Amino acid sequence: MTDRTLITDGWVVTGDPALGTVADCDVLIENGHIAAVGPNLDRTGADVLDATGMIVTPGLVDTHKHTWQSAVRHRCTELDLMTYFGEMFGRLGARYLPEDVYAGNLLGALSALDAGTTTLMDWSHVQNSPAHSDQAVAALRDSGIRAVFGHGWPLVDLPAWISGSVLPHTDDVRRIRRELLADDDALVTLQLAARGPELSTMDVTRRDLAMARDLGIRTSVHMGCGKPFGALAAIAQLGRAGLLGPDLTFVHCSESADDEFAMIADSGGSIALAPQHEQAMPGIGHTPIDRVRAYGVTAGLSSDTEAFGAADLFTQMRAGLAAHRSQLADGRSRFGGALAPFSVHEVFAMATQGGADVLGLGDRIGSLTPGKRADVVLIRATDPNLFPVADPVAAVVASAHPGNVDTVLVDGVVRKRAGALVGPEPARARDLALASHRRLLDA
Ligand SMILES: [Zn+2]
Repeated sequence: MTDRTLITDGWVVTGDPALGTVADCDVLIENGHIAAVGPNLDRTGADVLDATGMIVTPGLVDTHKHTWQSAVRHRCTELDLMTYFGEMFGRLGARYLPEDVYAGNLLGALSALDAGTTTLMDWSHVQNSPAHSDQAVAALRDSGIRAVFGHGWPLVDLPAWISGSVLPHTDDVRRIRRELLADDDALVTLQLAARGPELSTMDVTRRDLAMARDLGIRTSVHMGCGKPFGALAAIAQLGRAGLLGPDLTFVHCSESADDEFAMIADSGGSIALAPQHEQAMPGIGHTPIDRVRAYGVTAGLSSDTEAFGAADLFTQMRAGLAAHRSQLADGRSRFGGALAPFSVHEVFAMATQGGADVLGLGDRIGSLTPGKRADVVLIRATDPNLFPVADPVAAVVASAHPGNVDTVLVDGVVRKRAGALVGPEPARARDLALASHRRLLDA
């Protein structure tokens, strides 16, 4: 039997260049994938979601979030980068129990869904034991979000793992690949969240990347986050070692050198940007959208951590635009070439198809293209902060917030409806997060 859902009469922003943006348009979903986009589709046997007065978009894609930190959200809003490291990794992270990871991940995944983020790359550098990893994955699955679990390192005995480390990435990722996340078509899949040459030796980096490639998974690495890290020119080191490739994503790159952006572009790699954090947390540097655009690097947006900033990608889109246009206005770019313009449509593409490409999921999600999985968001355009709408993308990028998100579907399943998350998980997440929050701060 075919499971059919029909979204009717919305202002549909497909994100697909061939289909464009269409008013009074339907989206037909069959068995979790988009079957058709167009006016007056056949509604026989379909559950109908009336999208009259709503903007219908692809789900937003968050390319890097330390979801485990969500239950201690806003704890680091006044901190600079190095103090944040000390607080989250040194003081709190080492004390995380498996249930704290579960609570943080469940809360953080739900806050993402609430904000129209349907895919989340969970950058999880709190692998204090195999049970921590298992709980991280369990929470992602329980939330219903599409997720990429990025398996990182432990925060116990931290200096040994991040200061010129000679320790290879833990073998437990092989168990996770084999027993938990073997299916690359599943809702939750696996990546390596690696340390790279900034935190470990080149021998270890070479071994870690070889392991990821042997396991058939992609790798994400923080790079150039702050001047001391940028000065190491770690992307150039990877280039000289012949290790760059299309399976690598670099996070931030705020203090990476111009030639390193060219190397990423040439190798088919990608960058995960977090403009709110890059602009607002002292010590990270400056969001490198100018150089991403100049060198044509594939890029997505990310919410980094709720310990510092917002969970939603609307905030990241606006922060990215503001940062780039402040450079356009006064020519303050550090990049020597001409600054490329950056439109609301381009930043919206970065938050959808760009993010999907960054995660290696670009052929499955990122646009409302028939054949892709049905990750869809309905935004109430009749709300006081959005109405009247002339250009739906301009309205969403300029003014939308999670409170305008009416309905969210992931893989064709409704996860938010009439402005509220569905199911028992939100109430459970609140209880677990509060208990974890109290326990961690007491500890
Ligand atoms: Zn990060």
